[in-house]
Amino acid sequence: MAESKRTVVSKPAGKAKSADRPAAEIAEIFRRLHAIEPEPKGELEHTNAFTLLVAVVLSAQATDAGVNKATRGLFALADTPQKMLALGEDKVREAIKTIGLFRNKAKNVILLSQALIENFGGVVPADRDALVTLPGVGRKTANVVLNMAFGQATFAVDTHVFRVSNALPIATGKTPEAVEAGLEKLVPEPYRLHAHHWLILHGRYLCKARKPECWRCPLNDLCRFEPKTPSPNLPAKKRG
Ligand code: SF4
Repeated sequence: MAESKRTVVSKPAGKAKSADRPAAEIAEIFRRLHAIEPEPKGELEHTNAFTLLVAVVLSAQATDAGVNKATRGLFALADTPQKMLALGEDKVREAIKTIGLFRNKAKNVILLSQALIENFGGVVPADRDALVTLPGVGRKTANVVLNMAFGQATFAVDTHVFRVSNALPIATGKTPEAVEAGLEKLVPEPYRLHAHHWLILHGRYLCKARKPECWRCPLNDLCRFEPKTPSPNLPAKKRG
């Protein structure tokens, strides 16, 4: 999952109508997403809370697959803040040089390892306010770590969650923070823990930014986004 202090958000191609939607419909959206993928997982490889934190920091403006390729070697050498610090910035930089912004990210990995040791006894804190004090860690990274490492029902709003939530809509907003606040309010139990993963997967593989694949979308009848993309198999004049 890409993370950046300057979160890049893509707008849906058309206009979403008001998010004024009955709670039962929101529950139905998540019921369907749950039925398709009961246990959604993040795609960043990690072995503990520290390696997850580093992987999320490295994923800013990079693909999860690209990050995984680099971190397999890095985490074999260093899977704790102490080992990362001992490895040193030059070797971290070398290990992650295939990832965008690698110089700055290598610096942050070392600085955040140092901060974890100095301020948190070498342990990744299960607290958002504490996490965002670490170099390279923004609210979205903190939410991912709280969710995946500590089982907290946080809503990490990346570009996919932002777009899908505004398109359907579930929670609308002009900023990731506004959408996060809306999701906090609207997503019912028992779907809160996995909600952001379902929306990421839905956005990544189906409700794509350039061309949402509405014709095969399981949420089509609940989605107010217009115009919907017709099936490419329909004759041209029926596609409208
Ligand atoms: S129908 Fe599905 S794919 Fe199309 S805009 Fe709505 S949620 Fe996205």
